[in-house]
Amino acid sequence: MTQPAIAIIGAGPTGLGAGYRLKELKYSNWTVYESRPCSGGLSGSFIDSKGFTWDHGGHVLFPTYDRIRQLLRQFGDDFFHKIKRKAFIRLGQSLVPYPIQLHKEFIPKNFSGHFHKEKASPKQREKSTDNFRDWLSNSFDAHLCEIFFYPYNNKVWGYPLEKMSTSWVKNRISPQTTTQVREGWGPNKTFLYPRKGGMGAVFNTLASFFDENIEFSSRVVAVDISTKQIWLKDGTKRAFDILISTMPLNELVSMIRGEVPETVRSMADRLHWNSCVVSGAGYAHQVKDQISWVYFPEKEYPFQRVTALSSYSKDLVPRGNTKTYSSLMCETTLKGDKWPRRRSILEGIERSRLLEDVENTDSVREPVSFTQFLIPYAYPIPTLERDRILSTIHGFLKKHDIYSRGRFGGWKYEAGNMDHSLMQGMEIIDRLLLGKEERVYSGY
Ligand SMILES: Cc1cc2nc3c(=O)[nH]c(=O)nc-3n(C[C@H](O)[C@H](O)[C@H](O)COP(=O)(O)OP(=O)(O)OC[C@H]3O[C@@H](n4cnc5c(N)ncnc54)[C@H](O)[C@@H]3O)c2cc1C
Repeated sequence: MTQPAIAIIGAGPTGLGAGYRLKELKYSNWTVYESRPCSGGLSGSFIDSKGFTWDHGGHVLFPTYDRIRQLLRQFGDDFFHKIKRKAFIRLGQSLVPYPIQLHKEFIPKNFSGHFHKEKASPKQREKSTDNFRDWLSNSFDAHLCEIFFYPYNNKVWGYPLEKMSTSWVKNRISPQTTTQVREGWGPNKTFLYPRKGGMGAVFNTLASFFDENIEFSSRVVAVDISTKQIWLKDGTKRAFDILISTMPLNELVSMIRGEVPETVRSMADRLHWNSCVVSGAGYAHQVKDQISWVYFPEKEYPFQRVTALSSYSKDLVPRGNTKTYSSLMCETTLKGDKWPRRRSILEGIERSRLLEDVENTDSVREPVSFTQFLIPYAYPIPTLERDRILSTIHGFLKKHDIYSRGRFGGWKYEAGNMDHSLMQGMEIIDRLLLGKEERVYSGY
């Protein structure tokens, strides 16, 4: 019996997770179409002209599934550094350990106010509110909300907090009381980072297991549901029996040719996301403290987070020379289409005092390398109506043997990390070929 042809759009973590599982199951009739000449998607890396390696914003790997840990074991014992997170929040001149709600004693005096006891237990909280802003105000002291939660979340989401749901907060925001205080809170308290090649090395390695099944530089420009064909940018067409798409869901819907109900098209238009500009500055100076990353809630900084990328691996700076070089990577969520100016990023870094002190501290230090790029799809926003939208769209796609998965394919921030994405790819194959239930992206 001939195997149904499986086409996969995208060689990011989700598409590669699917490919890995197909290879494992010894399935042969499948192809990944990737628009770029390389794999990794948002989790890829590149080297700039001065020899600094950059990721697409701060990426750290903290696999929470046994299947992913097993997969990564095949890369060998030496592939990753295991790193203890050192994350802080910059308030005034102070670095307050992350998460701030568990380290209130470090908040500088001029920021401290009167902290009340937690208002509701986590269970009560879930019941009492459904929008994110109210959830914050119900969960944390008013002062903590004013100095951190509101300004930081406004910066990072760039979307009204009262129009966001709370479907994603579990595992992402620590409660105000927990037993896990001192040993570090959260799934990323220790994380993995490749010794060589940036985060992208994980996905280059994975792709190398089945390179022959990936067509690079093959952008899908249309999906014809009446003939079950995908159209590539070079004008050729490929037939599919089953299509797994990991491209942004709204773009997938808009490129479908054939009869698409108006409700599906209009629902796709109501999905929201934000875009982020990443500014990477490579210095011939050291970063002052041993930090992984720092959050910046204050308006005077043109970014919401700075990652000390060179602290993850010496391979990320020229000639592996971290005695001379360091690299800082700044993330700025776009409001409108104005990118943060180079000068304001460098001034912000200077003001943050993350770099070693030098004699003439008034001047803004020039980096040896500066690179800026846009991430057009950065965070899928969990709006209040998101789940209703997803049900309608997936219901329609499924009728045509199309399954959309991954960070923007599935549009669920809470299931949109690298390990979730790998799992989504593996699980959709298990569902299609073995009839197993999907767990990470369930219900569609
Ligand atoms: C700023 C930032 C920080 C992050 N930090 C972390 C972190 O610390 N830890 C973590 O686990 N995760 C993190 N993530 C999430 C991580 O990037 C994603 O989980 C992961 O990359 C999603 O994989 P994906 O395959 O679903 O999508 P993508 O990575 O977006 O891959 C989709 C692929 O599809 C291709 N494609 C798109 N359209 C087409 C088309 N028309 N034709 C052909 N190919 C197409 C793209 O080129 C891309 O390669 C972060 C994300 C961002 C934006």
